[in-house]
Amino acid sequence: MTSAPKVPDITLNDGNRIPQFGFGVYQIPPDDTASAVRTALEIGYRHIDTAEMYQNEKGVGQGIRDSGIDRDEVFITSKLNNGYHKPDDARRAFDASIDALGFDDVDLFLIHWPLPTLYDGDFVSTWKMLEEFKKDGRARSIGVSNFQVHHLQELARDTETVPAVNQIEVHPYYTNDAVRAYGIEHTIVTEAWSPIAQGKVLGDPVVGQIAQQIGKSPAQVVLRWHVERGDIVFPKSVSPQRIRENFDIFDFELSDDQIEEITELDKGVAGRLGPDPDTFAWIPK
Ligand code: NAD
Repeated sequence: MTSAPKVPDITLNDGNRIPQFGFGVYQIPPDDTASAVRTALEIGYRHIDTAEMYQNEKGVGQGIRDSGIDRDEVFITSKLNNGYHKPDDARRAFDASIDALGFDDVDLFLIHWPLPTLYDGDFVSTWKMLEEFKKDGRARSIGVSNFQVHHLQELARDTETVPAVNQIEVHPYYTNDAVRAYGIEHTIVTEAWSPIAQGKVLGDPVVGQIAQQIGKSPAQVVLRWHVERGDIVFPKSVSPQRIRENFDIFDFELSDDQIEEITELDKGVAGRLGPDPDTFAWIPK
């Protein structure tokens, strides 16, 4: 029996390392999260992406403890929910996330959405709070999510710390390459959310043909495409079989032509599944 293939690490701009492949828990019900996380860890995942918005941070912490794997071997990301952008609220929300996870710190903490139409568009003050969380040592790295290029430029102008990552929607139908290119130029690693377009790209004939040619599943082909483009990915599933299938992408490569064919599926903003970060203004009740 061969051992599980090793997931590559990426070094962030603050020197910390992050596994390029992980497990996303968006829409996993709170009561099912501990067991899904434990399954993923048993298969070999060492990176979990959660958020206060997902209401399952507690289950993530429980799943890690249940697995018996050292907390330090698992990279944990959580995010500041919309609604807590004011500095005092951000501090309280950060403390609550750490409490819910049940550990002393978090590896990566992100501003979930920029909310440029709320709080007078002041995500800069929110980012300065995250800089404090990093200085305190309870957020080992800090980053943002759903930031457009002009939001990143505003942070660069007004603050000291370059975000370690920008977690944005990226999949073959929405390659989001302008934001990715800004990240590559400015040492901000892109994390690709909804990497298999919530399943919608798996029936695509181009993906299907490549999958058939190389004897892999459509999900494996698309996840491998992300990894070869250098982004971080964390597909979500609650099925042990799919969790295993998604992880099994480190023993093959796509050709340059195959990568190009998949990249050409891009539909621009017409392919976007999530909201527009420039106008999204949902906050929790
Ligand atoms: P995804 O692209 O990971 O797709 C998940 C869906 O695909 C699920 O319905 C699952 O059942 C199905 N699926 C998974 N593996 C499969 C397989 N091998 N074969 C067939 N179907 C399969 O979508 P997602 O959950 O939206 O995104 C992944 C993660 O990204 C989330 O869990 C979350 O951590 C993160 N995310 C972040 C944001 C953000 O605003 N920062 C937004 C959405 C998601």
